[in-house]
Amino acid sequence: MIKTIVFIGVCLIALVLIIILFVYLYYIKRAKNIEQRLNKIEIKMYNSYKDFKIKNPYDYKGNYYKAQLHTHTKESDGKIITKNLIKEYKDRGYNFLAITDHNKITINNNYDTENFITIVGEEMTIIDPFWPLGRHLNRLFVKGKISKNRLTDVDEILNSTNINIINHPATISGLGTQRWDIEFLLKLNNIKFIEINNHFSDEKSNLKYWHILLNKYGPQKPIWALAVDDTHKKEDINKSWVMVKTENITEKALKKALNRGSFYCTQGVDAEFQIFNKKLSVKTNKRYKIDYINKKNEIVKSEKSNNSFYQFGGDEGFIRIEVINTNDNIKLWSQPFWIVDKRDEVIGC
Ligand SMILES: [Zn+2]
Ligand SMILES: [Zn+2]
Repeated sequence: MIKTIVFIGVCLIALVLIIILFVYLYYIKRAKNIEQRLNKIEIKMYNSYKDFKIKNPYDYKGNYYKAQLHTHTKESDGKIITKNLIKEYKDRGYNFLAITDHNKITINNNYDTENFITIVGEEMTIIDPFWPLGRHLNRLFVKGKISKNRLTDVDEILNSTNINIINHPATISGLGTQRWDIEFLLKLNNIKFIEINNHFSDEKSNLKYWHILLNKYGPQKPIWALAVDDTHKKEDINKSWVMVKTENITEKALKKALNRGSFYCTQGVDAEFQIFNKKLSVKTNKRYKIDYINKKNEIVKSEKSNNSFYQFGGDEGFIRIEVINTNDNIKLWSQPFWIVDKRDEVIGC
């Protein structure tokens, strides 16, 4: 009898291991294929505009505040209890902290002050091929859980009025099942946010996803990029975050600023952006390497400066900026400054 039970047990364990191995082999191969396809997708430049203007997402009143929008606590697979996680971020000068446990709403606003608020969120698993595997997306400013969690539900979820983010698109975590398929994302119509910097996901590949999607959505439905800690343990804290230009430290002001792209991604480098006479100026507190990157993801100008500028030609599609502190190997990523036809804008108004 005991022999039979042991035999059945061993068989079941062997079966589970075989399934895990097959899922891993299939999804890792799939992840590699996605990477190859990312490189093949061509980004077309728009026609050169003669009479154009530049859309500046930072051209609003307000001050920059520090925000972390992706963290986990012991309520899911994080190592830190909620109270301590909040303290860690408060101590590092954050004004906004979103707690985004896996498939769980962790609410804790007991520590909110005049200068600090927590945002209710959830990192949802979009199940594929079976629970607990699948793609991840973050939902912020939510009231509760939702029942839909399949790939066919993603566009509808993204279309809801809270802030919804495509997480770590290039990751191969979760046996490779967490990687987002670029063709799948291109079929969607409601992407507004995507993580480009998350320590689980290759930054260069994430940027390729972003550019391909920006190319599809264009200046009328811009997609904004995020940098996040995706905190699970203490060492993850304060590595990548966003600086958001808001009028005050409230949920409403943060949501508004995120929706219009008034924020930049950073690992500790700060900058001010201005547009004047079709010229983009970037001011930093120290001399850093400043790269200007066009819609095709090509660097069109690079210089070391603390007061740099770029003169738009009209055929770049958009320009985004990366500021690099080469000594500490830390970066800043701006949102895109889109070129739009001046006449179209007038008609549009
Ligand atoms: Zn995730
Ligand atoms: Zn996460």
